Amino acid sequence: MIKNLENIKTNLKLVEIKPTFQRLAIYDYLDKNRIHPNVDVIFENIVKQIPTMSRTTVYNTMKLFLEKGLIQDLNITGTESSYDINTVPHHHFFCKTCSKIFDISIQCPHGYDQLKKIDGNQIEEVHGYFKGICKECLGKTN
Ligand SMILES: [Zn+2]
Ligand SMILES: [Zn+2]
Repeated sequence: MIKNLENIKTNLKLVEIKPTFQRLAIYDYLDKNRIHPNVDVIFENIVKQIPTMSRTTVYNTMKLFLEKGLIQDLNITGTESSYDINTVPHHHFFCKTCSKIFDISIQCPHGYDQLKKIDGNQIEEVHGYFKGICKECLGKTN
């Protein structure tokens, strides 16, 4: 745990983020819970341990982490951003029944996700996702 905290501090310092107690807690939560949470989920889980945590702090920290490239935001649900500490481009599956977002390991057959430029336009982000009903939810109805 302490070693992990030191690693997080180093990660934040590398991108010139002051490693405050609350930022460390948020980063640690994202690192340990790779469920693509939104601000509400992050807040509700952390405030149990840190009562002084506020939604605004979570929101502002997400903005800062995004600017510094520590996380990526996903706009799959259409209503809110979900956050992913894995910034390597990968695809997602959104379950319309339980609203969970899963990583899926699928390689784009055309290699679109490897392109640096299209028509002279520089690509900085690639997002790919699928929507449907996850296997867990499918199992419940059968
Ligand atoms: Zn589901
Ligand atoms: Zn992901």
